[in-house]
Amino acid sequence: MVSRVIPVETFDLVIFGATGDLAHRKILPGLYRRFLAGQIPAESRTIGAARSVITSEDFRTTIDEPIAEFVPKSRQDPAAIAQFLAQLHYIPIDAKGEGGWPALRDLVRPNVVKAFYFSVAPSLFGDLAERLHQHGIADATCRIVVEKPFGRDLASAHALNQSLAAHFSEQQIYRIDHYLGKETVQNLMAVRFANILFEPIWKAQYIDHVQITVGETVGVEGRGAYYDTSGAMRDMVQNHMMQLLCLIAMEPPYHFDPNAVRDEKLKVIRALDPVEPKDIVRGQYLAGGGQGSYIEHSENPDSRTESYIAMKVGISNWRWKGTPFYLRTGKRLRSRASEIAITFKAPPHSIFDNPGGIHENVLVIRLQPNEGMTLTVMIKEPGPGGMRLTEVPLDMSFADALGGDLADVPDAYERLIMDVIRGNQTLFMRGDEVEAAWAWTDPIINGWEARGDKPRGYQPGSNGPDDALMLMHRDGRRWREIKE
Ligand code: NAD
Repeated sequence: MVSRVIPVETFDLVIFGATGDLAHRKILPGLYRRFLAGQIPAESRTIGAARSVITSEDFRTTIDEPIAEFVPKSRQDPAAIAQFLAQLHYIPIDAKGEGGWPALRDLVRPNVVKAFYFSVAPSLFGDLAERLHQHGIADATCRIVVEKPFGRDLASAHALNQSLAAHFSEQQIYRIDHYLGKETVQNLMAVRFANILFEPIWKAQYIDHVQITVGETVGVEGRGAYYDTSGAMRDMVQNHMMQLLCLIAMEPPYHFDPNAVRDEKLKVIRALDPVEPKDIVRGQYLAGGGQGSYIEHSENPDSRTESYIAMKVGISNWRWKGTPFYLRTGKRLRSRASEIAITFKAPPHSIFDNPGGIHENVLVIRLQPNEGMTLTVMIKEPGPGGMRLTEVPLDMSFADALGGDLADVPDAYERLIMDVIRGNQTLFMRGDEVEAAWAWTDPIINGWEARGDKPRGYQPGSNGPDDALMLMHRDGRRWREIKE
């Protein structure tokens, strides 16, 4: 099944930070792929802006390389690349300076969709918003896209929201959480709300617990100094894992509409219980396998920042009271694999004298690798010899189910950028949502700091610190084995 391409309106997209890593790895190759797919009208323009003093011609030359590196070879069409590059322009602009803004004002057209992507450090968001306004470039219909991290606590997130709100309405602000652009993550909503099957039993009465795992095999080498100011809680839990949790836990919105969806997510965040220290395990990877330790990579011998976190989270509302959500994420783990596993309760009474007992049904939604879903069900073991039961997976890989070639399915950034142009905020975080997530996170982090908590060391290539196993064992549960 080939994904249907609906062209967007003609646009002028300005990328601040166009010479940076994110622009090179994701934004520009993504735009090329959408162009190749026929989604971007020929008259659209992408305007790079950054501090480097280069010409549009120089800029086009620098984009050749990221396209060659980050677009699958089978999708590299020289004629299309040349046409795409011809849509690119560049203006040298310092977010804190005055140069370049008049040229940008002259270049951006009044009668097309206008979007400004802030792919720069968040400390520059306020300057960009201010100057776009001052120079009369932004109007009430334009959109701005802002990257993570959106703050490092409630106070800084609130200040960022205020600096943007000074010049833009909430309907104009698109806060990216690229997890929301992932195909499987959106499928969570489709599975829940487009099928009658699950929703009636999607509650504490029938669900024993939920596990959300985001595992990475890489460490923080190369960006350790930056990561050390953040850690797994800020880098993964407060945003990406929180969003996954919300999509699992939220009530059905009245419509698939940006505010209806975000209202429901916000209610979940507000219903999250405070997390007690006994329900959190933090870790730092040790040296091993020829690689340095977290402490070496962070270049901070006294670092107390976690490269791993596991936690048990409760939700105090009618649907979820009593069903724990276990979250874990970390660097340098055994496998690069992410999944959500919903473990249902065993039937209340078994009519079978099955030697192995009756297992719980588990619905697993795999985010990576091999995106797909598996539902384990009990069936009769084939053959004679009485009624013996066995557990089998009902397995669906999206690649198989949807016809094989996932190279044409837009990646998260492509989809989200096209949503910006369409003016659809459903898959973007609203300001109050982000602040609510920080309001829940802050006391947890402040507690560690006040107590001087030190993360436990864990072996690289393992599943994290041993204490994380105990977090589940003491509840009579265990983490799922995650395989790549
Ligand atoms: P980067 O350091 O590679 O690039 C930063 C860009 O900003 C460069 O183009 C630079 O010229 C420009 N810049 C710096 N100071 C400027 C100024 N005063 N005026 C105008 N332009 C200026 O950073 P990056 O990795 O591309 O990240 C950009 C943003 O995206 C950051 O907010 C980052 O947190 C976020 N982000 C990046 C990634 C990633 O994978 N790189 C992932 C998620 C979020």
